[in-house]
Amino acid sequence: MESEKTIYKKNDMVTVEITDMDEKGQGIGKAEGFTLFVKDAVIGDVIEAKVMKAKTNYAFAKLMKVVKPSPDRVPAECPMARACGGCQLQEMSYEAELRFKENKVKNNLVRLGGFDEAFIESIREPIVGMKQPGEEDFSPYRYRNKAQYPVGEDRDGNPVAGFYAGRTHDIIPNTDCLLGREVNQKILLTVLTFMKIHGVKPYDETQHKGLIRHILIREGFKSGEIMVCLIVNGKSIPKEELLCEQLVKAVPEIAGICLNTNTDKTNVIMGDRTRVLRGKESISDELCGINYAISARSFYQVNPVQAERLYSKAVEYASLTGTESVWDLYCGIGTISLCMAKKAGKVYGVEIVPEAIEDAKANALRNGISNAEFFVGKAEEVLPAFYERANDKDMLSPDIIVVDPPRKGCDEKCLETMLAMEPRRIVYVSCDSATLARDLKILCSEKYELKAWQAFDQFSRTVHVETVALITRVRNAKDYVQIGIDAEEYYRIKDEDN
Ligand code: SAH
Repeated sequence: MESEKTIYKKNDMVTVEITDMDEKGQGIGKAEGFTLFVKDAVIGDVIEAKVMKAKTNYAFAKLMKVVKPSPDRVPAECPMARACGGCQLQEMSYEAELRFKENKVKNNLVRLGGFDEAFIESIREPIVGMKQPGEEDFSPYRYRNKAQYPVGEDRDGNPVAGFYAGRTHDIIPNTDCLLGREVNQKILLTVLTFMKIHGVKPYDETQHKGLIRHILIREGFKSGEIMVCLIVNGKSIPKEELLCEQLVKAVPEIAGICLNTNTDKTNVIMGDRTRVLRGKESISDELCGINYAISARSFYQVNPVQAERLYSKAVEYASLTGTESVWDLYCGIGTISLCMAKKAGKVYGVEIVPEAIEDAKANALRNGISNAEFFVGKAEEVLPAFYERANDKDMLSPDIIVVDPPRKGCDEKCLETMLAMEPRRIVYVSCDSATLARDLKILCSEKYELKAWQAFDQFSRTVHVETVALITRVRNAKDYVQIGIDAEEYYRIKDEDN
């Protein structure tokens, strides 16, 4: 008898057990050969879902009812969790979240990197969550030092700030995102009340009219300094002075208030021009004992507590003794470079954003670090250019290369040059384990091997996970045959030479 194939269609109700989760944090369930993707469902849940969009073999469904909750299910802390979609894992216990993230990295290394599963497991160091061993007072919330709220209007014409509902530009009013600091709410309410009283209009992107587009808030966790930046479709706002008065009265920790002009029809949040309305144009903060000035537009790690742990691991993997030469590619404002510089002979940083390099140089100076040099440009262009032209041994054959690329990973030309330079170690810091796996496949094919990796939870309650991987040069059999000593001895001598 021919087996009957059930084809689901829109609005069908399905009861299904969630057995897996995809990269985006959607629960996956199988019902009669059909794969269902269900947002907000947790592995182990039995749920009732409504089919929203059906294809031949799979469908997207909406969670309607949890029939039998997974042991890992917890109530969402934020009342906006499902509508906002910014925290995909709020309904999962933190322990399960960490397991999910570590497995995600592991699966990518095996599936996309082509590494053996048992090998990957044998060199894994346990994921570093926000909770440290022995730490009781811990929360996976309130960790972000930066918040960017879009501003809009509700049906009654009142200004609101909040978040875009998943994949739309509809603003869901919410002035207290639980990933951000409590103080943000006070700042937002002060600005919104001011806007209402003085008739200052929020920006309307469909009409390209109105003034206030976004409110950006940054806080230096160590310094306690706060910066507020209003991103506006214009050069000024009415009664700027008064708004500044009200803001510092409400939140005395505000060290600087600035106005950024963005008059373009664009999704890019910030424009090119920033004017200081009051106080300083940057705030200071400290990471791994180094002091940084952070301006409104600089890239800076959003979870500073975890960033310190991540950087410490990168420095540990680099295994510095004070004499090494290091390239730090995709260096941003030089955070990793400066951490390394304190323990290395010489560090060269490369970064595509000129302002970030300005910041990096200023940060080196600010901390009295003189053994770090920074270059503006694409890593895949700057590194080959030095490799071809430089005659400085430290630059041509560095001991260590660190990379911390954006999600798309490293350019192939960059990877090729890294291999040609033959550093002893490569430390790969990654915010996307799929591209990390792809790049490791290239790096670890001949002369290099993956030695260790560790996942870090920088973005709790979301699906994003950071990884640090150590890749070392293989002790080549040819080397010791040629020189007639054993490999251990050869590398000991070579290491001492450097
Ligand atoms: N290591 C830094 C920054 C990491 S984010 C830190 O931890 O703070 C990645 C950085 O790579 C960003 O600053 C981005 O501007 C930069 N970038 C993106 N593409 C690049 C490229 N092709 N070459 C060099 N830098 C690039």
